[in-house]
Amino acid sequence: MQRKSDVIVIGAGAAGMMCAIRAGQRGRSVTVLDHARAVGEKIRISGGGRCNFTNINASPKNFLSANPHFCKSALARFTPADFIAMVDRHGIAWHEKTLGQLFCNNSAKDIIVMLLDEMRAAGAVWHLGVEISGVERSEGGFRVLTSEGICEAASLVIATGGKSIPKMGATGFAYRIAEQFGLAVTETRPGLVPLTLDPILLESIAPLSGISAPAEIRHGKTAFREALLFTHRGLSGPAILQISSYWREGDAITVDIEPDVDVTAHLKKAKQANGRQSPQTALGEIVPKRLAQYIVEREAISGNMADLSDKLLAKLADAVQNWSVRPSGSEGYRTAEVTLGGIDTSALDSRSMQAKAVPGLYFIGECVDVTGWLGGYNFQWAWASGFAAGEAL
Ligand SMILES: Cc1cc2nc3c(=O)[nH]c(=O)nc-3n(C[C@H](O)[C@H](O)[C@H](O)COP(=O)(O)OP(=O)(O)OC[C@H]3O[C@@H](n4cnc5c(N)ncnc54)[C@H](O)[C@@H]3O)c2cc1C
Repeated sequence: MQRKSDVIVIGAGAAGMMCAIRAGQRGRSVTVLDHARAVGEKIRISGGGRCNFTNINASPKNFLSANPHFCKSALARFTPADFIAMVDRHGIAWHEKTLGQLFCNNSAKDIIVMLLDEMRAAGAVWHLGVEISGVERSEGGFRVLTSEGICEAASLVIATGGKSIPKMGATGFAYRIAEQFGLAVTETRPGLVPLTLDPILLESIAPLSGISAPAEIRHGKTAFREALLFTHRGLSGPAILQISSYWREGDAITVDIEPDVDVTAHLKKAKQANGRQSPQTALGEIVPKRLAQYIVEREAISGNMADLSDKLLAKLADAVQNWSVRPSGSEGYRTAEVTLGGIDTSALDSRSMQAKAVPGLYFIGECVDVTGWLGGYNFQWAWASGFAAGEAL
């Protein structure tokens, strides 16, 4: 193991590898340490195995943070186009799936191989399966105590991610180091996570399990239009994962299954055209049939369309477009794609990611209180914050 280098990066994930590449390219000797047996494990499983590596529309408005301005500098200096240029240089084929989300045509492993090739070319070295037992200040910078001995460097970069998917080795390491050096950490909680329902509601929607429908999900002033999925635990799908980052315990969310349709007008037309039709059938023309049946039963609407007053038709339409549901919780870090909150951005310099009070100490990637929407934004933050630190140290 290399004992002395200019830079030690702890964490060989997306942010840590990008930082090592940039610092190595600038002539720094870089040692990357990780307790996992392989680099970039989250990259490997991301995007269903195809890695949604960036989003061409990425801008600061797609990120949550106590300070929404903090991410601006890094995002402006390493853009989706910069990452696409690297992907293209390595001949990796990609496509846009939807909403600006870019995926590998072949496999997420292509991105890992690319990053390893770039680290090699930049002269960075990496050691895997290394347990870190402590970090100390030394005369020249920092001393890192590991299961393989002591490493020293002038600059120390913490890139150990957040708490999501502990089964894959996620730890609260970054937050502990921040606290050790007196840096504030904002409240952390699971983000981009399925929401659960109480047992009574869950039982009533059990027949819907497996149904996916395009929907608009609202929470306060925030709304996302993507797919909604009913599961045997509650609500999931991209629209729910997105809103979960804004949702808090006890809050209600509003589900609109037909945001683009005037449902009342549709029902009135259906009543005029065929009064003997059941409301399930009329509704089933615009929403999945099982869902139509569930909504009619939930609203306790009986009789044929001809029997329904305008008030009842409006009530039915409201049930489709304004279903207020109060999730009982979330599936937690076990399945969350990201951790919200983290190292308080007021403790960091937004250009370099360096701790203002501890020269030489940097925090990058998911451990910082910057969290992206679903759709390639979190990797873009990892690349951009890693690049910013690699450019500065
Ligand atoms: C299932 C899933 C799918 C996802 N899909 C996407 C997607 O398609 N697009 C997207 O933009 N985002 C996606 N994300 C989010 C994305 O993976 C993360 O935001 C991103 O990986 C964060 O990068 P990072 O480098 O900060 O942390 P990580 O990638 O988590 O890397 C942290 C590294 O630090 C190491 N480490 C942790 N603790 C220690 C310790 N104590 N000692 C030594 N090493 C340690 C870990 O082993 C790991 O290698 C997904 C997340 C999940 C869970």
